[in-house]
Amino acid sequence: QKLCRKQTQKHRRGRRHRFLRAAASSRRPDRSDTPMPSRSLRVAVIGAGAAGLVAARELRREGHAPVVFERTDGVGGTWVYEADADASASPEPLVTQRRSNLDASLRTNLPRECMGFLDFPFVAGPDGDTRRFPGHAEVLRYLQSFARRFDLDGLVRLETEVVRVSRETSGTSWRVRYSRKASGSEKRETDEEVFDAVVICNGHYSQPHFADVAGVDAWPGKQLHSTSYRVPEPFHGQVVVVIGCGPSGTDISRDIAGVAKEVHLASRWSLSATSEKLPGHANMWFHSEIDRAQEDGSVVFHDGSRVKADVIMHCTGYIYKYNFPFLTNDATVSVDDNCVDPLYKHVFPPQVAPRLSFIGLPLKVVPFPLFELQSHWVAGVLSGRFKLPSKDEMVRDVTAFHSRLAARGWPRRYTHRLRDREFENEDWLAEQCRRGGPEGWRREMFDAAMQVMVERPENYRDEWDGGDYDHLLAQANRDFAAHCQRP
Ligand code: FAD
Repeated sequence: QKLCRKQTQKHRRGRRHRFLRAAASSRRPDRSDTPMPSRSLRVAVIGAGAAGLVAARELRREGHAPVVFERTDGVGGTWVYEADADASASPEPLVTQRRSNLDASLRTNLPRECMGFLDFPFVAGPDGDTRRFPGHAEVLRYLQSFARRFDLDGLVRLETEVVRVSRETSGTSWRVRYSRKASGSEKRETDEEVFDAVVICNGHYSQPHFADVAGVDAWPGKQLHSTSYRVPEPFHGQVVVVIGCGPSGTDISRDIAGVAKEVHLASRWSLSATSEKLPGHANMWFHSEIDRAQEDGSVVFHDGSRVKADVIMHCTGYIYKYNFPFLTNDATVSVDDNCVDPLYKHVFPPQVAPRLSFIGLPLKVVPFPLFELQSHWVAGVLSGRFKLPSKDEMVRDVTAFHSRLAARGWPRRYTHRLRDREFENEDWLAEQCRRGGPEGWRREMFDAAMQVMVERPENYRDEWDGGDYDHLLAQANRDFAAHCQRP
């Protein structure tokens, strides 16, 4: 924790300078003065989560005709809670293809004000969850009301899964094959349509990442991933080892500790040579990383401590896999070590830009505002209002970007982790779109949330409203009021 805190403080100092710069340029021009687009295209959007919804809105605002394909029966993506996951866990790790990774008690890890789209404030309504860090149902309500407000529902084809995207021989359009339930029958039928462009918004949180634990194959207990966790009851009286102390690891441990016999958090961040009891909890311990699991049911930690455990819960952050099973080689991108390559600014594959694009790949960001900026950029480039560099220049930019990461010793799988580069990326996108980026208060709120999450993972959400951030909330409310007055 000490190490995390030090890193966060250093990181925050650097960000403060950028924040002050950004705050000075936080006014967003009114979108009504944007010129008419020169080209209107029919665009397939894959996925109706937060990214797909805002992409559809931006495309339509720009004069395009988007069609959104969504394989499930509703909009909202990740934020649709699926209560029926089997939290009692099978003996094998549950590798699911589910849409929802949420547990019943999940609350946002960002204050709502900073999390919402830039021009659709995420404010508490009279009937919903009014907490500053609301539960998942409130986020879904917000996304559904976003879809209603911008009249997007009519653009979405539900229960329609895109199964193949291939380039037409003309090179400028894409054939999209999709599968949907045939009317009046349980059978599925496939169909195809040709679009001028495709925007991929299929999310990337559906393939859980499991920690490598030596000896786990012979270990007799149960394993599951945080994405399969819903409620604590099945862990009643059990000894649970939770791997990872990121947001899901800390939230789930606390949840489970209410019913479990013991909860042991294993973290690579532990600096202690021995395991420690977590203050304020009678049945929670903090350990270093797991060294191995053994046939006799014990789990041995690097610090030398060991426990006989019933369950290993993998809360291995949100390091999930990018997967585009519907893309043919025509897309000219591949995924290697969780890096989608080549991609110009995480959005356009140079060879087929701008007719194919990806929204929402970056990690360690505030997602909704970033999706909005990326979507605005894509829509404007497709209409011809914003210009891309030549293919060669984009390829050179991508190559230089990878060289910079390699020089820092970063593995390829960190390519889309923006973290420190998030604000820079947003400012760059905003500049391309000739608009302001996320407001200064939003960024400062994000930094503050990251810091308290590390310092007080257990209760930062409920202790936020202590007056420290009143000036940021006041600024947010002023900006929101200004938005609401706009036509
Ligand atoms: P998704 O929400 O995954 O949506 C993708 C959609 O595409 C899905 O509806 C899926 O069904 C559909 N789809 C996929 N493939 C196809 C296909 N072939 N054909 C048709 N449809 C398809 N963000 C925050 O801002 N704050 C938080 O507090 C926060 N907490 C999180 C907690 C958890 C546990 C997780 C997993 C994520 C959290 N996030 C949070 C990040 C969250 O993922 C983003 O906020 C955002 O919802 C991602 O949206 P998306 O549209 O990119 O992807």
